[in-house]
Amino acid sequence: MQYSIGIDIGGTNSVMGIVDKMGNILFEAELITKDYEHLEGFVDASYDELFPQIVKLGKNNFKGIGIGAPNGNYYNGTIEFAPNLRWKGVLPLAKLFSDKFGLETTVTNDANAAAIGEMMHGAAKGMNDFIMVTLGTGVGSGFVANGKMIYGHDGFAGELGHVIAVRDGRLCGCGRKGCLETYTSATGIVRTANEFLETKSTSSLLRSVANITSKDIYDAAVQGDFLALEIFQFTGKILGQSLADAVAITSPEAIILFGGLAQAGKYIFEPTHKYMEENLLKIYQGKVKLLPSELRESDAAILGAASLIWNADKVLV
Ligand SMILES: [Zn+2]
Repeated sequence: MQYSIGIDIGGTNSVMGIVDKMGNILFEAELITKDYEHLEGFVDASYDELFPQIVKLGKNNFKGIGIGAPNGNYYNGTIEFAPNLRWKGVLPLAKLFSDKFGLETTVTNDANAAAIGEMMHGAAKGMNDFIMVTLGTGVGSGFVANGKMIYGHDGFAGELGHVIAVRDGRLCGCGRKGCLETYTSATGIVRTANEFLETKSTSSLLRSVANITSKDIYDAAVQGDFLALEIFQFTGKILGQSLADAVAITSPEAIILFGGLAQAGKYIFEPTHKYMEENLLKIYQGKVKLLPSELRESDAAILGAASLIWNADKVLV
């Protein structure tokens, strides 16, 4: 068997593709997730996109389907109460896909899928112990320890984005206060920018920007804008402190940062590394690499999901 299918279900868009064992994406398609009122309709539309290609390549050459989805549960193949999807409740995602396609289907959450993709094709190649942190609209994470993805007893292990970084801090979408996600996601850094602009009198390029985005903050930092640099320092401090805590749990060889905010390069990596080191227990100091993802942003989601299938025996449980 030479091919697998990778599907990444996102709140707005979903991408899917056919991937060979070397990690080459042979075919790609995209669906607007929000267009589908019911999950069944989404499965049918995915089938219409992919099936002609499956027939062309020979169905017997396909090992299966890997899906990364918000709140995807590896054990049950379900998605459960995903806040950003129209489809509510607990839904049998893997079963619907395997019934429709006649192919074995594996599900996990998007950050775990990214971690497995990184281990097969990216910065974590050959590593047995690492933490993948995705800094996107939210903050996700996948923990690999002793060569295995950690799923926990219910399939939901590794939610670093919802570990409390600041006691009684900002209100999070999950209903609690001070989650890491409210500070170090793309939306979190924008909240910081708006707070700083309101409470500080420093002049800044950002003062003339309406509806600031994380990209605006990056652009200002590149131009040496003092307030933008301060925003990155603040964000990196909170992220670095939380990563130092995470290191104490699994003692990883590396932490890999992925997603929009990670693309800010040194502006986020330097303060994050500095504050991580400052807050590490002595036994870990100078040992943990902080690395950018080596997967291309556009391919990572499909590759990671497809890798689930190749890795099912070796790494998963
Ligand atoms: Zn939260």
